[in-house]
Amino acid sequence: MKSIIDRAKAAYLGVAIGDALGATVEFMIPNEIKSAYGVHKEIIGGGWLKLKAGRVTDDTEMSLALGEALLSKGAMDAHTVATSFLDWMRSKPVDIGGTVRRGLVRFSLTGETVAEPSERSAGNGAAMRNLPVIIATLGDNQRLMEWTSIQGRITHNNEESDRGSYIIGLLTSLSILMGGEAPLHATARRLMEETPAFDYTRFKPIDTDGYIVHTVRTVLHSFFSTGDFEACIVKTVNYGGDADTNGAIAGMLAGAFYGVESIPGRWLRRLDPNVKEAVERQVDILLETFPPRRAPDPDGAATCPRPFWPLP
Ligand code: MN
Ligand code: MN
Repeated sequence: MKSIIDRAKAAYLGVAIGDALGATVEFMIPNEIKSAYGVHKEIIGGGWLKLKAGRVTDDTEMSLALGEALLSKGAMDAHTVATSFLDWMRSKPVDIGGTVRRGLVRFSLTGETVAEPSERSAGNGAAMRNLPVIIATLGDNQRLMEWTSIQGRITHNNEESDRGSYIIGLLTSLSILMGGEAPLHATARRLMEETPAFDYTRFKPIDTDGYIVHTVRTVLHSFFSTGDFEACIVKTVNYGGDADTNGAIAGMLAGAFYGVESIPGRWLRRLDPNVKEAVERQVDILLETFPPRRAPDPDGAATCPRPFWPLP
């Protein structure tokens, strides 16, 4: 169990570190990053949001809000999660995505916990905040899929968003449970066969616009072409574009897979100490409240029911 707790913490710290590192170069293109930083690999803040070094953005903050909602109910409850997101929005966050804002405004006006279906809501905003669901459903892929969609659809009512969030979720879940033994290549291959749009071998460096399909390709391309936590995140954020969110998701997967010892000390020291404490504490309570109940199930990728796909 200790190794599971450690890897879950590493995944959450990975979200925060990828977010804080990537935010500096969000919306830049690779050539701009190169002329400004060479290779961008230090947490220095700045960026279009003019952040203090170590400060995180909506990606990490919404994750914490989702985790708090799961803990306050001891279960997944869409209304509780939506309320927690809305409270966060009202706290005047440093950044908030358009689709997220639309969904939460609608919830505040109507109480509806499922956003309007929209072609345009295939952004990565549901996947970026999903780690608490992944931690609370370890070993139960069916529940992972259901809870992923419930929290996601509060703002992103879109099959591609559900599917991309689930792909990242399943790979992260297996990594937290199995560490370096997790059969990620085989599982990823099977997931890509089911939904070829997400095939990361089709990654192009220009596809960093925050579209969930592009985000999954970018993260998996970076993850499978590097051999440690630092290299995976550095590679991801240096593509620019939605660098904080891509970085957060890459950090989630790489943290889960490589573990807490793999995280560079200089990044941990730079991260906002309140955030570091909050994510570590939340992992402890999440795993107490929702203990992993079954053995890892890598085959779940192929066998789980599919109410939301195949995609066209
Ligand atoms: Mn962000
Ligand atoms: Mn972003």
